[in-house]
Formats: sequence, structure tokens, C-alpha cells
Amino acid sequence: MSEKVYWISAYDNESDELLCAKLKNLLASENLLDYIADQDITAVKTHFGESQKLGYVRPLYLKMLGETIKDLGGVPFLTETSTLYKGNRSDAISHITHAQIQGFDCASTGMPIIMADGLFGDQDHAVPIKGKIYSAVHIAALFAKCNALVLVSHFTGHLAAGFGATLKNLGMGCASRKGKLRQHSTSKPEIIVKECTGCGTCVEWCPQEAITLNDDLALIDSEKCIGCGECLAMCRFNAVKYNGGATYEDLQKNVVEHAMGMCSLFPDKSLFVNVLTRISKDCDCMGHTFEKIIPDIGILVSQDPVALDAASLGLIEEKAGKSFAQLAHDIPYRFQLDYADELGFGSQEYELVKF
Ligand code: SF4
Ligand code: SF4
Repeated sequence: MSEKVYWISAYDNESDELLCAKLKNLLASENLLDYIADQDITAVKTHFGESQKLGYVRPLYLKMLGETIKDLGGVPFLTETSTLYKGNRSDAISHITHAQIQGFDCASTGMPIIMADGLFGDQDHAVPIKGKIYSAVHIAALFAKCNALVLVSHFTGHLAAGFGATLKNLGMGCASRKGKLRQHSTSKPEIIVKECTGCGTCVEWCPQEAITLNDDLALIDSEKCIGCGECLAMCRFNAVKYNGGATYEDLQKNVVEHAMGMCSLFPDKSLFVNVLTRISKDCDCMGHTFEKIIPDIGILVSQDPVALDAASLGLIEEKAGKSFAQLAHDIPYRFQLDYADELGFGSQEYELVKF
């Protein structure tokens, strides 16, 4: 079935203020947020970007969305999850501090930030799915308690997924640490001996009693380990590593199964927004210098995450006159869309409605 994807076109470097006003008009005229009922707790999920990256979605869009949701009677909050790798977004304290530095705070967005996966990224909710890889996927726990979702993504290239937009934001961005670990890694975590202080925190938190201390060094019994990622979350000395060795195809399929699980929490209660401005070769997690790879295209909105990513990709490739692999990383990038089709999740067929 062909799904509607709304497209607000932009000229290159059009101001965020103007685009945001157009997005507000689109939401109102097409009643796209009318699924939000009185008192619906509404998660507004985005990505706060990295300090030296300029591509992320600016706070004013979130502010407008928050106000619109409140006007409908909903109760919105801004949310994110911790990263698997160590950095300034790997737990709630550093992540919220980082978000505030990036300009996302109550004053600029009108919403509090509440991390969906708790203080250390380990708050987990298992969602049963009919996948081909998983029978259940691990989503940040808070999402299971919300009534509605608005997910705002910045379209970028990505080193392993080829491109990152709504499916990637849903699958990886909404997963708990356990879910992220399962998507990325082909093996269980290991201890970096030279970093381990023998503090024993991981031993205390491991739910499987898979870690022991030997001569003040942690040792993981891979037979007992279930790959929950708790030790990654709790080690304060960066002494636990994962291999991140999933292939492009595996990673994209894993992401799609998690995205499908996440969407199943919000039947008919979600809206997805892709921002196709400041599109860069690498995702917003990469902290190096920002480089735009194509003139701005605008903003796309849909209730179908697969149709939305397919339409976004289609517009980019049409404008560039080449494939996304030629534009960004030369790796397969369509697995995520084709695999969604295989699972019967969403639709790659779309009707583009220019606004
Ligand atoms: S928490 Fe980290 S530093 Fe402490 S024992 Fe475990 S691996 Fe070593
Ligand atoms: S991943 Fe989980 S089960 Fe495995 S060692 Fe770490 S805490 Fe224990």
C-alpha cells in the first residue's frame, strides 16, 4: 500500500525559522498530530548532536512540536538514550549536560529532558516481535510507559548503515544498552586488562554472575554472559569493550527489527519527521568537522517510518543524480528498507505530497 509522505521543500540554506513555521502549518492543516489525546504522555525523541557537529535538528523545531502537543492536551517531554560507546552521551548526567550545552533545555524547548533508558542506559523493556532474527527486542524502558511518540531525525550518511534517518533513530536510538549491544556486536563484551582497576562494580551488577575478580582483574565467563551490556554501563574506567563487528547487512537488519518493536509500542500513535538540511557524509555522533554533501532539500513527514526513509532517500538521489553510496559512504545501504519489506513492516511505496 502506498503511504503518504509530506514534503516541505526548501531552498539551500533556507532559515530554520521559516522551515519550522512551514512544518507547523503542515501539522495543523493535515491534522497530523491529532492522534494525541488529552493527557497523552508524549515522548518527543531526537538526537542532540555532537559539540563540533552542526547538522543536528535545532531546538526551535522541538519547541514548536512541544507547544503543538500541549495545545492538543498532550503532555510532552524531550527524550534520548545513552550511547553504547563511552563519551559525553554515555549516561544520563553527561548526556543531559551535553544537551543543555547544545541549546536543548526547558527554556529553549519548553520541555524537560528525561532519558528513556535511565541513569546508566540500562533501563530495559523487552518487546516481543515476529522477527527473523529476534523474538524480542530490547527498547529503552520509558517508551513502554508513554502514550504517544513524535520522532524527529536528521538525515545523514552513516559508516555502517549507509544512511541514518528514522529507522536508525527508532531501532538504535530508542534501544536500551542491551538492545544496542545486540545490534552492534557479534560477540560478548571483554575486559581491557590494562584499564581494569579491579573495583568490582561490574561483578556486583552482572545479572548472570558471569564476572569474577581474579588478582584484582575482572574476568567474563562468556558461557554465562547474556550480552545485557550492564557491565559496559556500570564500569567507570572504560575497561569493558565490545567488538562492534556486525556486518553492514546484519546491523541494518538488527536495526529494522528493533525499529519494528519500538513502533509496535505506539500503534496509530506516532509521527515521524526527517530533516533533510545540512546533510553530511557522517552521522551526528561523529564529532569532526561538518561537511554538507548536497544542497538542502527540506523536511519530510509521515506516519510510516519506512515510506519516510524511502522517500527521503529518493529525493536525495534524484537531486544528486547519483546513488547515496556515491554521495556518502560506498557501502550497501538499502538493506534496511528491503528488510523492512521482507518483514511486512511499513511500506517502501509512497505518495509524495508536496506542501
Ligand atoms: S567495573 Fe570496570 S574497572 Fe571495575 S572491575 Fe569491572 S571492568 Fe574492572
Ligand atoms: S554483558 Fe551482562 S551478562 Fe555479560 S558479563 Fe556483562 S553484565 Fe554480565
